[in-house]
Amino acid sequence: MLQRAETATSQPSWRRIMADAVTDVEQLFELLALPQELLPAARSASRLFPLRIPKGYLSRMYKGDPNDPLLRQVLPLEAEHDKRPGYSADPVGDLNAMMSPGVLHKYRGRALLIATGACAVHCRYCFRRHFPYGQANSSRDHWKSTLRYVEQNETISEVILSGGDPLSLSDQRLRHLALDLARFPHVRRLRIHTRLPIVIPERVNDELLDWLNGSRLKPVMVLHVNHAQELNSPTLRGALSNLNHSGTTLLNQSVLLRNVNDRVEDLVELSEGLFHHNVTPYYLHLLDKVDGATHFEVNEMQARALYEQLLARLPGYLVPRLVQEVPGAPSKTPVGSVGLIDG
Ligand SMILES: *Cc1c(COP(=O)(O)O)cnc(C)c1O
Ligand code: SF4
Repeated sequence: MLQRAETATSQPSWRRIMADAVTDVEQLFELLALPQELLPAARSASRLFPLRIPKGYLSRMYKGDPNDPLLRQVLPLEAEHDKRPGYSADPVGDLNAMMSPGVLHKYRGRALLIATGACAVHCRYCFRRHFPYGQANSSRDHWKSTLRYVEQNETISEVILSGGDPLSLSDQRLRHLALDLARFPHVRRLRIHTRLPIVIPERVNDELLDWLNGSRLKPVMVLHVNHAQELNSPTLRGALSNLNHSGTTLLNQSVLLRNVNDRVEDLVELSEGLFHHNVTPYYLHLLDKVDGATHFEVNEMQARALYEQLLARLPGYLVPRLVQEVPGAPSKTPVGSVGLIDG
């Protein structure tokens, strides 16, 4: 039996922690002692996309600093009302790629399931901030048609659970889903795209470790960390260690965000910090041009310049691939290359 760094049972349940998130703008300003002049704009922008910050994540931010790189990711700002050409509500063409309710099958061999619309944190740059989850609602009926889709497409060797955040579902539901998918011989890997272990590390409890590593499917978890300061939590480091020891391959994807991680030092520290906790940097995404997120944009030229500095600073295996979503392309598209359109 492997020694797990911390036992989840001695901690408050992740559901309670999730329900106890800060959703009120006034409360946020009070807890972090933020300048009052930002309050009216925050209140108004939070009507475009509600505020949601788990308290454990909030505790990794510095008080009184509106430019804290963690706070920037979740703080509603005046700039969210800005419109800019090229920005839209569905920048990656997800609605076109939906084959069956809740299934996105854009890339060969991989089907992505929208497992739920719920998230534990609301990231202001999220390309799903306008996503009509009602249409992709994975109620129990939809699971059936989703499973049938995967069963009938024998080219699918990997199923990706995404959302929203798939780990906001109960372990009981996820266990059943993993068991159902494991019945299809062509499916070999189960990948979870999640930010929940980062913002609420208590989510990585024994139940999760059991279903994730208990089936025939090879488990992969793609985490979402944008800044090394997000790793400043002993509970999080324990959770990553438990995942690693139980046999889950851990990868990370980040989004390149203005005033969050757009200096080479930020990216170097992030890669170093991730690898220290057994997480391999996987992708660094250019921002998806979603309405409300113009203030996060790092343009392609700036991104390429930054990336060259990063290549000069780190061993190759610590450099994530710089990519963007090009609607219609057969894979994530390396920045700088011409997006090939699948014929
Ligand atoms: C990003 C994405 C994937 C996974 O792509 P990888 O390059 O395998 O990480 C699969 N399906 C959809 C719809 C995606 O957006
Ligand atoms: S889907 Fe991911 S990026 Fe978007 S709000 Fe949820 S946790 Fe944040």
